[in-house]
Amino acid sequence: MVQPDASFGPPGAGKAPMACRAERRKMGVMRFLARASLLSVALLAGCANLNLYSDEQLEPLSVAAYDEACGQYPVVESGPDYDLVQEVARRITRAADEDFPWQARLLKADDVPNAFCLPNGRIAVYTGILPLCRDASGDPTNGLAAVLGHEVAHATMRHGGKRMTQSALSNVAMEIANLGLGMTDMTANQKGTLMTVLGAGAQYGVMLPFSRDHETEADVVGMRYAIRAGFDPWEAPRLWERMAAMAGGSRSPEWMSTHPDPKARAEKLRQLIPTLLEEEKNWQPKPTKKVDPGAVGR
Ligand SMILES: [Zn+2]
Repeated sequence: MVQPDASFGPPGAGKAPMACRAERRKMGVMRFLARASLLSVALLAGCANLNLYSDEQLEPLSVAAYDEACGQYPVVESGPDYDLVQEVARRITRAADEDFPWQARLLKADDVPNAFCLPNGRIAVYTGILPLCRDASGDPTNGLAAVLGHEVAHATMRHGGKRMTQSALSNVAMEIANLGLGMTDMTANQKGTLMTVLGAGAQYGVMLPFSRDHETEADVVGMRYAIRAGFDPWEAPRLWERMAAMAGGSRSPEWMSTHPDPKARAEKLRQLIPTLLEEEKNWQPKPTKKVDPGAVGR
């Protein structure tokens, strides 16, 4: 924030009588502050990396949004797809090396090709994205690692809080910026806005793309996680290409509609992989007090 200059005053203030001078000075300071705060808001709204929300502030919103999103579809609690999601989530979250209360759920929604990770590490995978994750041999493991690496990176890079900040500053979601408002007290509209801003808006039919910078960051950081966790990073660009091919059809996947230009991204990732492999080859997790930092579960 810009601090007012104590010596600030209108021109000619020195010649005025005492009371009048004080009044003019006050007016000048107020005008200055008004201009400064307008300018600050304009500057801050343009800054995708400002985050006014702490993990603690976002925690109740994340829990509520997760319950809301997971309440929309049956939660799959066993079977090979469930095991796959748990295994990939466990390895990716361990590689993310962040002390979040990680959770991963598989939602039975074959027509929703999507996945998300809310602030503080609440992951949901819709069954509809699994076919897109399958590689040439039919194995979805490395493709799912690319999806979850990317989504988890949105959470660890605090993109939800940054997007909340931008929304609040640009007045789009000023109402929901009031953190005292519980999910149950919100109107359907407010709830939809909050879910969308946090990254779980699929069921409201409104998907808000993260900024281009956030997407690029999630791509690169997500690839690092996949590499650290021992997945095949070359499957990530192939996944993007499968997304692109699907988008060419009659129906474009939701995950893709919020992650545009898949062909260009696939190419960029391919160029980056050798560097990332080199940089991550000696990666070790931080020592942690937790017994099993990779535990996910439901
Ligand atoms: Zn993304």
